[in-house]
Amino acid sequence: MSTAQRQVPAGTHRVLILGAGYAGMAAATQLAARTRRADVQVTVVNAQERFTERLRLHMTATGQRLAELDITELLAGTGAQFVRGWVTAVDAHAKTVRVDDSRVLRYDTLVYALGSVTDTATVPGVEERAYTLDGPNGATTLADRLARLGAGTVVVVGSGLTGVEAAAEIAERHPEVGVTLVGQQDPGASMNPKARAYLRGALTRLGVQVISGTAVTRVRPDAVELAGAETVAADVVLWTGGTRAAPLAAAAGLTVDERGRVVTDSALRSVSHPEVYAIGDAAAIRQGYGVLHGTCQSGMPTGVHAAVSIARALRGRQPRPFRFGYYHTPVSLGRNDAVVQFTRPDDSPRRGCLTGRMAVWYKETVSASPWPTYRRMSRLPSSGAFWPRGGRFTRLRNAR
Ligand SMILES: Cc1cc2nc3c(=O)[nH]c(=O)nc-3n(C[C@H](O)[C@H](O)[C@H](O)COP(=O)(O)OP(=O)(O)OC[C@H]3O[C@@H](n4cnc5c(N)ncnc54)[C@H](O)[C@@H]3O)c2cc1C
Repeated sequence: MSTAQRQVPAGTHRVLILGAGYAGMAAATQLAARTRRADVQVTVVNAQERFTERLRLHMTATGQRLAELDITELLAGTGAQFVRGWVTAVDAHAKTVRVDDSRVLRYDTLVYALGSVTDTATVPGVEERAYTLDGPNGATTLADRLARLGAGTVVVVGSGLTGVEAAAEIAERHPEVGVTLVGQQDPGASMNPKARAYLRGALTRLGVQVISGTAVTRVRPDAVELAGAETVAADVVLWTGGTRAAPLAAAAGLTVDERGRVVTDSALRSVSHPEVYAIGDAAAIRQGYGVLHGTCQSGMPTGVHAAVSIARALRGRQPRPFRFGYYHTPVSLGRNDAVVQFTRPDDSPRRGCLTGRMAVWYKETVSASPWPTYRRMSRLPSSGAFWPRGGRFTRLRNAR
């Protein structure tokens, strides 16, 4: 059962966390644990009560059942309230949030963690005809379609790691289907030669045809058109080409970047509205090597850092700058194969990688780790405050 925001005594500081994905849950469990005795009310708003394991949506899209992870059950006893609903507007001036166009929630501090969605607006036909891996409903609809497809054709557009994982999963689960992966970059382009070759070999073994170095310019009912007028037949198109943030932050007047992400200072506060923290995929967070790209790997630390910063600010102390360095890129290649590229803090590949069974075990361990981590953090918040800080890679010259 979702609970509406309770009346709070005067003087209570209201922290509203929008989004209970990887970053929002990290913020919620940390903050609730760190402010248990303080005069603070923590409220989490999310579209579903069930936690969406976005990392595993390619599994949902191929008909595999995921664990039932109940957000209300995890938050029970932590002191954080849960409100189920769809956030429709943020009024950054009045410090209110509208939920389902019917309820209004007030905040003193806002944590903006609404994630990202696939950018379906840039190419004609995508919005109307392509499937995406943005949430459980879309992924389940795709699973139903694939189950009825028979010996049809699927084109996965976007040769980044989401596209690779999805193409491999579909090919493994539906060997009768012809799967083509189309994208501008070579699959595994960010990996070292050994890992990239392994990834390509696995796609070949699974029967995935790869077309790289080209862009899809239109999605038609029966095909995709490539730059240069070539077409590839497609009964089903899955679009994984790029993400953007929800338009809510821009509509609220927060400073956003070209992808709608909230631009933050070094402490993860909005540069235009310092009472708003932005974390995860919804935030444009600059490190010495550039702006973080959306991953769970970086998203969870941003949630923890925001919570620690809010707790510090409530005690009258200054928040510290956020620093993060990447350390790995684990990629599933169906259920029985995987490759893990170890990285430098700036996400460039190191020499080391794992392949095969060891990589499958590693990937599964990483994918399964967030939920136990939230449980542990809600009892022992300091246990979540460890991640690679990235050393010299993350230092900013003019850190705010
Ligand atoms: C198939 C796939 C595989 C991936 N694999 C990896 C991987 O191996 N490693 C990795 O690090 N990253 C991976 N990613 C990326 C990773 O999933 C994201 O970076 C991560 O989910 C970002 O976390 P987040 O908390 O910012 O957003 P999310 O996890 O997307 O959470 C956002 C939450 O906000 C809710 N929400 C959104 N809008 C509203 C609204 N208006 N009202 C109410 N609730 C709302 C959503 O329902 C969701 O619960 C993968 C992504 C996909 C799609």
